[in-house]
Amino acid sequence: MASKNRDDFSEKTRLQIAKRAGWLCSFPTCRTPTVGATSDGEINIGTAAHICAAAPGGPRYDKAMSLEERSSAKNGIWMCRDHGKAIDSTDPEFTVERLREWKRQAEIESWRRVLRNEASRGPIVAEDTQLALRVRTAAEADLKVFRRTVKWPSTSVALILRVERFEEPVTTSALAKAITSLDDLILVAGPGMGKTTTLFQIAEGVLASGNGTPVVVPLGDWATEGVTVLDSILKRPAFNRISEDDFRKAADQPGVVLLLDGWNELDAQARARARVQIARLKAELPKLGLVVSTRRQALDVPFEGARVDLLPLNEDQQIQIAVATGGDAGAKIVDQAWRTTGLRELVTVPLYLAALLSLPDGAPFPTTKEEVLRHFVSAHEKEASRAEALHAVVQGFEQDYLDGLAALATRTANTSITDSNARRSLQPVDR
Ligand SMILES: [Zn+2]
Repeated sequence: MASKNRDDFSEKTRLQIAKRAGWLCSFPTCRTPTVGATSDGEINIGTAAHICAAAPGGPRYDKAMSLEERSSAKNGIWMCRDHGKAIDSTDPEFTVERLREWKRQAEIESWRRVLRNEASRGPIVAEDTQLALRVRTAAEADLKVFRRTVKWPSTSVALILRVERFEEPVTTSALAKAITSLDDLILVAGPGMGKTTTLFQIAEGVLASGNGTPVVVPLGDWATEGVTVLDSILKRPAFNRISEDDFRKAADQPGVVLLLDGWNELDAQARARARVQIARLKAELPKLGLVVSTRRQALDVPFEGARVDLLPLNEDQQIQIAVATGGDAGAKIVDQAWRTTGLRELVTVPLYLAALLSLPDGAPFPTTKEEVLRHFVSAHEKEASRAEALHAVVQGFEQDYLDGLAALATRTANTSITDSNARRSLQPVDR
């Protein structure tokens, strides 16, 4: 089989193809599980078939394709052994278009099963070894450390997301299942929408599901450390009893997930470094799950995955957050915002909602986005004791907040708010 002229799939790609199809045969009338338990252990009758052949002379070979395209997950379709053989023939019935359509259908169905909480039929996850348990315990302790930092979300209200190609919104906990059984995720959201909050909620969801080990990596912090992503994790106190070898062994089984926060915060150089490291990790540890958050997908995210968009807060979520922050008074503020043109939309963005809720009592009620920020900053410049409130607001999205201020400063030429002023006003926050 293996010959130099074949553009075969790597192990990483093969797994990706299988996961996306939910480990079921993609032949429309088949859907046979390709892995499962038998009395002898695990059966595996799945095969990653090429849509366009791996070598000249094979079925549907396309000489215009590059090597990368030919060996990418896009060119693979997951099949049971029989159907893998069937489509590996020259039968003109199996056209490229038809196979692509089958693949698309199989992937949509497998997502739907996960999002509707139906059991996934992936490979059997081995009983937890001592090592897997130790690494998960470390990850749990590490998440507890994050809980005590400003990065931890100020709200526990679950954010709602939309997965590409699906109309039905999903919660962070449903998505947590998708990463351990289905696909890597690329979370895209605008400033202040709560990207960091989402990653922490997914991390908690993975832990709650009991079969995963989530590790959050704030990329902005990592970029300043001058070490590899893996070293940056292992030098955290929670991981002090985990060696690199331990971590790699644990990540060689399904379940370990890296949640990389803030791809857009990296400059070009740091991004290049991160890309190389992440590609290498994924090649060495194909079962490692990845989630990355970013402002725009255009920023050349370092792996393929399903795109997930954060949805604006609905009215129920807004009220829940308001009441959690400021009780009845908080709810009144939201109600007033709904009745103010220009603010109704704004309070669907978690950052602005938090800024509005933290305005001092008796402050004039703002009517535009700029006013929300301006009142907010001036209130804090006057009153050092409000640092607490500021602290609460910037939790989880300090960078977004600063960017918001910077954008405001450039738009309104006569404002005194510059990025450096904003930074000064943020100094009381202990980071
Ligand atoms: Zn089949």
